[in-house]
Amino acid sequence: MTMIGKMFIGHQRILGTAGGQKAVNPATGENLEPMFGFGSDADVERAAALAQAAFDDYRSLPLAQRAQFLDEIANRILLLGEDLLERAHAETGLPLARLAGERGRTVGQLRLFAQVVRDGRFLAASVDPAEPERSPLPRSDLRLAKMPLGPVAVFGASNFPLAFSVAGGDTASALAAGAPVIVKGHNAHLGTSELVGQAIAEAAQVTGMPEGVFSLLFGAGTSLGSALVSHPAIKAVGFTGSRQGGLALVRLAQARPEPIPVYAEMSSINPVFLFPQALAERGAQLGQAFVASLTLGCGQFCTNPGLLIAPAGPGLDAFLASAAQALAAHPAGVMLTAGIQRAYDEGVARLTAAAQVQCLAQGQAAQAQTPPRAQAMLFATDAAGFHGNPALREEVFGPAGLVIRVQDTGDFVTVAEQLEGQLTATLLMDEADHAAARPLVPILERKAGRLLVNGFPTGVEVSHAMVHGGPFPATSNAAFTSVGATAIDRFLRPVCYQDFPEALLPAALQPGNPLGIARLCDGRPEAAV
Ligand code: NAP
Repeated sequence: MTMIGKMFIGHQRILGTAGGQKAVNPATGENLEPMFGFGSDADVERAAALAQAAFDDYRSLPLAQRAQFLDEIANRILLLGEDLLERAHAETGLPLARLAGERGRTVGQLRLFAQVVRDGRFLAASVDPAEPERSPLPRSDLRLAKMPLGPVAVFGASNFPLAFSVAGGDTASALAAGAPVIVKGHNAHLGTSELVGQAIAEAAQVTGMPEGVFSLLFGAGTSLGSALVSHPAIKAVGFTGSRQGGLALVRLAQARPEPIPVYAEMSSINPVFLFPQALAERGAQLGQAFVASLTLGCGQFCTNPGLLIAPAGPGLDAFLASAAQALAAHPAGVMLTAGIQRAYDEGVARLTAAAQVQCLAQGQAAQAQTPPRAQAMLFATDAAGFHGNPALREEVFGPAGLVIRVQDTGDFVTVAEQLEGQLTATLLMDEADHAAARPLVPILERKAGRLLVNGFPTGVEVSHAMVHGGPFPATSNAAFTSVGATAIDRFLRPVCYQDFPEALLPAALQPGNPLGIARLCDGRPEAAV
């Protein structure tokens, strides 16, 4: 498919006239064709009006047809073939093999949500039959089902050009909920966005979706993105990116005459606690595995393990020696954008200059300085150094890690209490460490969305039980996840129908359960029909 730099607004392809931008190859600094025209307020208005007009029709379609739409998006993404991977590679510098894996995840995610839609449990249908004879007061017939909030604005992430972007988890879960979606494409992968946008637009047409179920706009966050979030037709926002950007959108959404939820996934340093027995048994092996996770994708994962806490001693020395050796062999890598490279360099400079922080190891330096490359870095401090400098709790997005040497596992609790909210927290331990881990677990439950044992947090499975969320600043709303089947809950709200005539009830709540979905009756599972 040829890219033409035009937005998708309902059925139309529109060339934005409010400025524009070419994509940039971060490995070479070269511009990539074509020019992408940026949308104006009028384009936002048109997309939002179409989404609003599509809302009732789209959410009323049979669940099977909604699911077919999601499956068809997955099929059409695969039909884009190597063109999609090559363009994403050129725009992001991410290796082709990684992008092929990410495409698999994106397609799998769409199919998972198609299955969630067919299954119908997300509707949380619940029936409390009338009790006219109840004393002292009769009870009405009460029926609850969830409905979508309304049109959703999605801000694609720079670091997952497929799985967290135009057809990524936010879009898939919002469409699954029955919400039309308007995506603000990320400027770091405009061509990839257009290709995937084409796949969604075609899928919408062949499966008979109403016009306006999907639009893709190009533009700057502070103008077009802000206009989108401020538009009265938009009822929720999905975002992955920086803390600054996420908080700007939260503030904007809260300042609207009608405030709306912003589900922003922002910043996490993903602490790893390394216990004595595990250190003694396999310190050197863990050192290598840690560096592999720290440097994966040039460290540009929201689940990158940026902080490791371990008791000082010979075990930690072996761990660090092996980690330093692995890191020293790691080549400098291409970062997603010049801005992200700059932010990384600033973060590394902050760590280098911080009091009581030592540089333990450096990866290979870049051969050519145009454009710059990210050099992997490993720093160390002690518990006092960490406590004395709140800046050390901030994310450095890229392949840089900080090790805190503590006296013993009793210090784990003190360090954990200092941490902000996290997407993940990891315990590397053996059975003999379980007693030492016990007091830490309740603290980590308060701090993080996912707790792992003897693994590394990079690599997020898309499944029913996954949580990719956590207390602020990991996300703006710790009650939800942005990955996994329950991500759909972000875009739903419950409605109760009291004493409604059968003919006017939604199918999910009608007597006889015509959809055949799982429902509750008086709080207990309704007998299967
Ligand atoms: P970003 O700057 O937050 O941008 C993400 C998206 O939000 C872009 O489409 C951007 O539009 C838009 N945006 C940003 N600020 C906005 C504002 N004030 N109002 C409206 N829209 C706004 O994130 P990024 O470009 O992906 O990366 C920058 C930094 O974010 C990284 O260095 C890293 O620190 C962090 N990051 C974190 C994660 C994570 O998962 N934790 C992932 C990716 C990035 P424009 O492009 O037009 O500004």
